[in-house]
Amino acid sequence: MDDCIFCRIANGEIPSDKLYEDDQLVAFRDINPQAPVHVLIVPKRHIQSVNGLKDGDAKLLGHMFETARNIATALGVSGSGYRIVVNTGENGGQTVPHLHFHLLGGRALGWPPG
Ligand code: AMP
Repeated sequence: MDDCIFCRIANGEIPSDKLYEDDQLVAFRDINPQAPVHVLIVPKRHIQSVNGLKDGDAKLLGHMFETARNIATALGVSGSGYRIVVNTGENGGQTVPHLHFHLLGGRALGWPPG
């Protein structure tokens, strides 16, 4: 998608603070971090949201979770704990219409979310 900011980050058109990349996904630091660790895990294929997932995407989702776990370990928050968040749609607070996991850690996170 030409006008999708995360597609443009994924294909290198827009710079990002990239921590990991492979053929299926890219992970980069959020530009407006909400915690000391705030990383976005983004599939390269344009998927609008959780609602746009198809049969057969289970493997991709598993890979996204594994990547989030590996980055949490690499950034030293796996012991202290972290949160993986997937905002979906307007009431879910999604502002970028391209599926992404937020990985948040490095401080105690409140609950419930606002
Ligand atoms: P959401 O509101 O759940 O859709 O999350 C979108 C996230 O993308 C927000 O936390 C933004 O700060 C982040 N974001 C938007 N543009 C960029 C960018 N160019 N580089 C890194 N993160 C971005």
